[in-house]
Amino acid sequence: MPATSTAGLMDGTALARRLVERSAAKAATITERTGAAPCLATVLVGEDPASVTYVRMKRNRCAKAGITSRHVELPAATTTAELVGTLTELSRDPGVHGILLQHPVGAHIDERAAFEAIAPEKDVDGVTMHSFAAMGFGLPGFVSCTPGGILRLLDAYDVPLAGKHAVVVGRSPILGKPVGMLLLGRDATVTYCHSRTADLSGHVRQADILVAAVGRPRFLAGADIKPGAVVIDAGYNPGNVGDVDFDSARERASLITPVPGGVGPMTIAVLLAQTVDAAAEQLGLGLPPVN
Ligand code: NAP
Repeated sequence: MPATSTAGLMDGTALARRLVERSAAKAATITERTGAAPCLATVLVGEDPASVTYVRMKRNRCAKAGITSRHVELPAATTTAELVGTLTELSRDPGVHGILLQHPVGAHIDERAAFEAIAPEKDVDGVTMHSFAAMGFGLPGFVSCTPGGILRLLDAYDVPLAGKHAVVVGRSPILGKPVGMLLLGRDATVTYCHSRTADLSGHVRQADILVAAVGRPRFLAGADIKPGAVVIDAGYNPGNVGDVDFDSARERASLITPVPGGVGPMTIAVLLAQTVDAAAEQLGLGLPPVN
């Protein structure tokens, strides 16, 4: 990867639009063939304003792509057993093809138990142990949406992964850990960094591909970025600020995702694609996955 004076931008908005268009086309085919549209069930516990907004955004996008959504709102005081009961019912309902449990759920709820009540074939948000293991083994299954979106971005920009050193800063179960697993599955050499990592800058400086998934504004400085590196900024902090200091990083990277307009739009696009894929699979239509 040659060093450039100013990195090219990886346009997640445009790529996400194309992915949504292809998902919408597949949703239309499913509706035409079966008389019913693919259906995503969204489950929201409580009234956290950010979660309410996220669910609304996801349902709006579904509607625009010809995917119906069934919304279940549960009170904040819902118990683990009640939530597991709701998710089990949705998992058994043949009219529901994908299930999204908006998280975080309340601290009194066993979130893992709730996720595990989602049938693997409906786990379009990639949150179950089944999906996580499939990602780890490189087997077919649904991926976590943000990591899946990141891989699609890298592929869309023809970024070679095999043999490259990918450094992932962050190890959360929905983002850092799975994106590292997906990169490893594509033959990158992966280093994970986290809050206990010694000499973080030293690791970051070695990255051919740097994935920032920290949740701290402008945490990674351009001075630590290897000239010519590909920089994926998954961070989304208040004020539309990423985890990478964009201006200084852009002077050294070859490609970089902007915030907003990079990784963010890909997350919902992957959710929609996986929902129509889940529907086609459950309905036995033999249609190829949205790519
Ligand atoms: P998270 O669960 O809070 O995880 C943050 C990770 O960063 C943890 O692994 C933590 O390490 C690590 N970390 C924190 N401080 C650090 C430090 N000083 N040095 C090194 N590592 C440090 O966050 P997340 O859910 O993965 O989200 C990360 C960011 O991505 C946030 O900005 C979030 O808004 C964004 N995000 C965006 C999307 C999207 O659709 N674009 C989706 C999900 C998340 P420990 O494990 O050691 O605590």
